[in-house]
Amino acid sequence: MSNGPYYQGDCECGAVTLIVTAEPLAQGRDEQGQGWLVLDAEAVQVSGGLEALENETLDDGCACSRCRHCRQRLFSEQEWLMLLPETLLPAAGPAPSDELARRLPWRLY
Ligand SMILES: [Zn+2]
Repeated sequence: MSNGPYYQGDCECGAVTLIVTAEPLAQGRDEQGQGWLVLDAEAVQVSGGLEALENETLDDGCACSRCRHCRQRLFSEQEWLMLLPETLLPAAGPAPSDELARRLPWRLY
């Protein structure tokens, strides 16, 4: 058994559930003020509601997965990093380092 961190989160309607098994690498806000957690993609698993996920292509060309029922954006993956809305998990991380910031699909402040 692992004693490491373990977080569970779900979308606003509860259709999609996620399990996260690591502390966030970083945390920051995008230009619209939405807060995001940055996680190692391997630490994030969809534990329920895979059939409710749909892909959305954002204005800047990034792919984001969202719940088809409540339309909440759940995660965006790029270069082995996963961005999750900070409201999804009761976790927090430091501000992104410059090196990490360059690997993110969008800029965090
Ligand atoms: Zn939902």
